[in-house]
Parts: sequence; structure tokens; C-alpha cells
Amino acid sequence: MNGISNKKIFSWTVDRLPRDAGQKKASGVPFGVFVSPFGEMKKRRTTETTTTETTETLGKKKREAAGKIARCESCFGYVNAFCMFDEDGFNCALCGHETKWKNERERERYKRVSRYINGRNEDDPRAKKYLERLPELREEHNEFIVAAERVKARTSTSGPTRVILIDTTEGGSALEIAKSSAMAALEAVSAENGGQTDATFAIMTFDGGLTAYDVVGRNKVRVDDIDELRRDEVLMSFEKVMQMRRVFARVDKYKEDMLAAIDSISSSNSGGESNTALNGLGVKMAKLSTSANGEVEEDPENGSATKTNTRGETLTVSKRYQKKRAFGPALSLVLDLLGAMEDEITEDAFKMMESEDINIRNGVDVLNLNGMNDDGDAVAIGNGDDDFNEFEENEKKREEEPFEFDGARVLCFLSGMPNAGTGSIYSDNDEINTLLNDYLSEMSADLRAKATDALFMKEKKESASKRRNDDDTNAFFFYEHCGRRASVNNVCIDTILCSKPSVFCGLHAISPISSISGGIVLRNDEESDAGDISSFLPSEIFKLLQNVDGRTARDCAIRLRTSSEYIVANAYGDSFREDKKYKGLYHVARMEKADAFAFDFDFSSKIGFGDEDDLSVAENSPPILQMAFEYTVTEYDDASTSYYWRRRIRRVCTCAKKVARTPREVRDFAKDDAVFSLLCRKVFHIMKLDGLFESRLLVIDWLTALISKLAKISGDTYVDAKFEKKHNKEVFCRCANAFSPTRLVYTLLISKNSPLVLMAYDGMNNENQPDLRSLNLFLCKDRLVGADLIDFLLNGCVCGGSKSSTDRNVEEAQDEKKMYYGYEGFLSFVERISSEEFLSL
Ligand SMILES: [Zn+2]
Repeated sequence: MNGISNKKIFSWTVDRLPRDAGQKKASGVPFGVFVSPFGEMKKRRTTETTTTETTETLGKKKREAAGKIARCESCFGYVNAFCMFDEDGFNCALCGHETKWKNERERERYKRVSRYINGRNEDDPRAKKYLERLPELREEHNEFIVAAERVKARTSTSGPTRVILIDTTEGGSALEIAKSSAMAALEAVSAENGGQTDATFAIMTFDGGLTAYDVVGRNKVRVDDIDELRRDEVLMSFEKVMQMRRVFARVDKYKEDMLAAIDSISSSNSGGESNTALNGLGVKMAKLSTSANGEVEEDPENGSATKTNTRGETLTVSKRYQKKRAFGPALSLVLDLLGAMEDEITEDAFKMMESEDINIRNGVDVLNLNGMNDDGDAVAIGNGDDDFNEFEENEKKREEEPFEFDGARVLCFLSGMPNAGTGSIYSDNDEINTLLNDYLSEMSADLRAKATDALFMKEKKESASKRRNDDDTNAFFFYEHCGRRASVNNVCIDTILCSKPSVFCGLHAISPISSISGGIVLRNDEESDAGDISSFLPSEIFKLLQNVDGRTARDCAIRLRTSSEYIVANAYGDSFREDKKYKGLYHVARMEKADAFAFDFDFSSKIGFGDEDDLSVAENSPPILQMAFEYTVTEYDDASTSYYWRRRIRRVCTCAKKVARTPREVRDFAKDDAVFSLLCRKVFHIMKLDGLFESRLLVIDWLTALISKLAKISGDTYVDAKFEKKHNKEVFCRCANAFSPTRLVYTLLISKNSPLVLMAYDGMNNENQPDLRSLNLFLCKDRLVGADLIDFLLNGCVCGGSKSSTDRNVEEAQDEKKMYYGYEGFLSFVERISSEEFLSL
């Protein structure tokens, strides 16, 4: 498939940009770009030196120190091939500002550039040779080193940390799946860098209480009823009895003990708790005093789990949730133990960011600060080569050192809906449940959308009012807050639902912890009790964590700069965190190569990209887009496995685009899947703010408008925006079919894999459909663009593993596919939207 390749850095919705707002509107095509900041860099244009080396290793070798590259003193954009140069400086291609060379070093670096580049005579061998030394002018995509640290594996005191948080409330297959997945995670982590790793791994379980496994001392530390304690009380009681270094232990040394510990985990209602302690040394902490009883009773959320005296069906629902599952308090505690600061970056952190000491671990972002690192060279924070210390000695020292971590990943294995303490989801509001069930059995997608909104949006509004009184009672707000807190602190949280797909877990409220912090959401798809034998989860988790640090960019900061004719209007990305100080600068905790973020643009003035008749203007100074992306990455040395590099790298990518002459040209050069993906992002954004119903209306509006514009552009017939001329239907259908996004958008409206749709189908209880929708919505987010997104909506297949959760026979599924996605279904839809009846809806 053409269009968005996952790894390309820029994927525009249009290859010829609309000239101005009028043309953009007439074309009906959205004007935006997908950016995969950590995507594959473009191959170098000069091929003479081609060897067997991959572009990646070439890229690494060609990295220059960031400080050497000249920047515009007005907009801080980076110098690039589209700038105009003279002896004394350059004219910025982005903002037009004239910048003088800052010092002699810059003057020296760029001294002959005006002679060679302004003429653009790239065939001149002297120019070629000269430009070879200036990758920032020769290449569209560049990487520069901001800072680097060489780390000796196994002896470093601050490797990456993984935390396994397992729900033991329910036993059975869910727990078995969680355990085998946890073991798979441990195997993956311990194999990193050929086993030479400084990663640590912590094992914790929760039900009503929280247990931390001290694998070094072969102990367990448990605090009961964490939902009834204040957060600081829980933290204090843990810190009193547990040593961080013994719970967060090194995988290279304690892997076997960890495996044994995971194996020993049993369900909390099996009664075998004390017998399963490692070597029988289990220390169960005395139940802490619950003097806060008065407060507890005031909190309606806490009592809900045992309230069973309601009518009919609700009774069974209540029974199911009787066991305490204090997920919220457990997760808060894990974040506390990881030293995660509260929510937002503090003033101190800002000061640190602005200081001249480049600190890799704190992810200093200098995208916006000019004149930093003036001496130009990479700052090497050497660990030295004096590694004569024996491992054991280091280990002793380590136990005394304060716990620091270089990025953490928390894998939460849930087997049901959180029902105790903060973040508890269970609502004893029968009215909502009934409403939901009634509406969900409706056949109309719009009615189902309304019903879902009743559940989702009402909770949202409640959170707004509750927030003022009691910070943590609302589940939505609580999990969102956890996600932000994790993201700020470079902690990534994964949500893995191990229970059968028919068990409602409240994913609609929980999933923000993962979508915001850059984690993943997975759900067991096995309805039977076959347990770990058939579940895809363990292998999926193994794949997820295998060499993850080498594949992942951490502490990312991204900023787009445009030439002055246009501006970024919106940025779409769940894991985006807007910088509090610098507008247009976004932080992302963790990113993989396939992650893509959408931006759309507005024109900064009526003129747009210039006069229609004066083509030379657009040709000489074309629209420019520049991305600056800074990230930390772990890079393994091929030559020696005992060392690895932790590098802070800045990537600068600049591209120039052509401008279209007519609306038709805009459409002809549109990239179908980028158009479709951008539309999805916009719709999901609306869905979050205004609900499912609104977002469905938006899609229908957009589709209707697009088809009418396409008909207009085609020039055959004039179609009134209100579709008053019914005889235009044929033209209508022809146009709609010629432009494939229209059909894809239609699929978005009707596919049962679409987050916009809740299809009632067999084998799935109605109350689980919010979970399913959240899962689909999550899957459609940052990691899924273009062709992948289309495949997902059509077939429900994504990221390997997760099979379609229905087991209807193939024939039936094909019939449905024909009905919905085939030409016939689409035609009847177009007929429907072109009819009066539709307009009155
Ligand atoms: Zn500038």
C-alpha cells in the first residue's frame, strides 16, 4: 500500500499544498501532516560510499555535535538548505529573519557556503566536497549529539526498572496468564544486551492489600487494606520494612529467585498465603491500625462493593465484585516507590532544564534555548574506564545508595474491575446500568452511541464537580492523573487484562494510564479456562519487552516550526504533554519508531502561500516544515557487550513542499490513508471531549460535505450543498467512489472494530462493550496509522497477537463484510445521505 509507511518521518495529507484557506475549503481535503519523530531517517542522497552498512549505522556515524549547527536568532530554527546565505550570516527559511554568524567558529564553518549553495549547483565537485562537511545543509534529516554517557553494564547504579503488578484477587486462569506473562517479561528483560544488563525488576501483587517481594532476602512485605489508608501512611509502612534495593533487584543476579517468586504467587482467596512464602520466611505485616474509619464511612465508593441488596441482575453484578481489588491505591504506591513526582514539572525541574549542565537522565530539553552548549562539542559524562571494582563490591555499595532509576515500566495485570479505594470504578447507580443495557440492545448505532455517552460523559462531568471536593474519588480523573504523573517522571504503564473477555474491567476509565504514559493495552481473548496454554499474552509481552530500550526513545521533546505563511493549528496525540512554558513544545515520555502524531495547519493570512499568478514566489521560497526532536536512547556497542551508550540526541528534519494550482490538484495529490488517519485523529479527539454521538455526527457531516465538494470539483454537475437536486446521485456516487477516503470514512462509521461503533453481537455481554470500545480506541491511537489503521477497521487484526474476538463462522463474517464494506453498502449510504430524509435527521 502506498501512503504512510510507519517509519517515514513526515507523511503529508497532500503532496501539493492548498494555496490558501479558500482553496483548502474547496478541495475538501484536510491539510496536515503525520510526524513519526523517531521514524527511519531518509537514505542519504549520495550513494557512492554505499557499503553494506545500514542507514542506521551510517546515521550514527554521521552525527555531529549539536552545538555546531547555526540557528536562527529569532525563531531558533536550524539552518538548512532552503536558507539564503552570505558572508556574514543567513536568511532564515522559516521566519525570514537575517541572522549573523554568532562567532568565528560558525563563520569558519559556513564561510564558503554562500558561494556554493545559493547557486544550487550540486554537480560541481568542489561544492559536493564542501557540502560533505555540512550535513545540515545537504541532508533533509539530521541527527546531532547533545550529550553522551558511556555506561558499564552490570555495574551501573541506575539501570532501567520494570515493575510487575499482579492482581491476585481472582485466581484461576487469569492469574496463571498473569504469571506466565510476568515470567516472559523477566526473560525478555534479562536477555537484553546479551545478558549484560543493569536492569532491575520488582514483583508486587495486590488485592485488598499490597505485597512486595524481597527476592534478595527471600521475604515478602505485605500491607493489608491499602484502600483504607492514606497514601502517605501506606508509603511509610512500606518504607519502614522494605529495602528498595532488595525489592528492585538486579535481573542478572536474581533472575532465578524472581522466577521462583512469580511461581509462588497464589490467589488471595485460596488461603495458602503464608505457605507460599519463599523458603517459608514470609513475613506478614500485622494489619495496620485503621483509625481512619470515620473517613472511610463518609466515602460512598468504599462501601459499594459489599452492597448487594439490590434487585434482580444487579445482585449478581455486586456479588462478582465482592472481593476487594484496590488497584488505584496499589498503582499510586508503585509510583511513589519509583519516586515519581506529582503530576506536573516543578519549578526546580525548570531551573534544571535551563541550566547549562546537560543532564541526560533528566531529559534536558534545549530545543527552544538558543546559545546553549556554546563550545560545540558533545558533553561526555564519562563513567571512566576504571572498572576494576568487583561486581559484589558494587552490589554492596549499591544497597546503600539512594534508589534512582533511568526510566521505569510498570506492567499491571488486572483480572477485573477495581472496586476499592481511589480509582474504584464500580457504580452502584442502577439507573445507569439499566439505561446502558437498554440502549445497548438497540440496533441503531446512534442510539448506542447516546447510551455510551450516558455512561462516559456523565462520569466525566461528575469528575469535574467532584474534583473540587475530593481529589481522588473519581476514577476517570484518578487514572488520567496517574498517567500524567507517570509521563512526567518517565514511567510507562502497561495495562494487561488477563480475565476472560466477558469480564467487565472498566477499561474505559483505566486506559488513560497507558495512553498518556506511552504504554500498551492488551486484553486476553480466550473465553475458555485453558489458561496460559492458549493465551497469546505471554508471547506478546515477551516481544514487547525484548530489547525495548534499544528500540525506544525516552524523555522525548518535539517541536514543529513552519515557514511564516502557515501555522500549526492542532496537535493530536494522547501521549503528548504540552510544555508549560514554551508554546508548541511537546513532551512524550516514551516513543517507538512506529509512533506517529498528527498536526493540522491553518494559514497565517489571507494570502496563504502567495499570489496564484506569481508562481516564482512559491518556487523560490517554498513552504517549509522543520521538526526538532530530542530524545534519549540506549545504544549497544557492537564491539563490546560490557558497555553501552546512553545518548541524548537531537534530530532536525526539514522539508519543502510544492503548492497546488487548483483545488482539483490538491485532491489529485492527496494521500488517501493520511487523509483518513488525520480525520480519525480529529474524530477521536472530539469523541473524548463531546462524546460518541457528537463525533458520529461530525463524521457524517464531513463525509457529506466531502462528497459534495468532490462532485463540485469534478466539474460535471453543480451539486448544491443541501443536495436538493436528487438527479445528481449518479455523479455523486462516481465521485465518492473515485476518492477512496470517502469509503474508508464510511467504514469508520459502520465497522464493528471502529471505536465509533458499538455493535451488539453474540458472545459479548453488553456491559463489556465500553471495554471493547476503549481497547479499539486505544489501538487506533498513536501506534496505528494509515494502512495499519485501515486493516484494523476492516479486519480487526492488529499488532500480531490479538485475534478477532468473535468466533462467528467465516461465511457469516464475509456476508457482513459485503453488506457493510462492499460497493452496495456504500452506494446505499451515499443515496441515504443525499436524500432529504437524511438532512432532516
Ligand atoms: Zn527564523
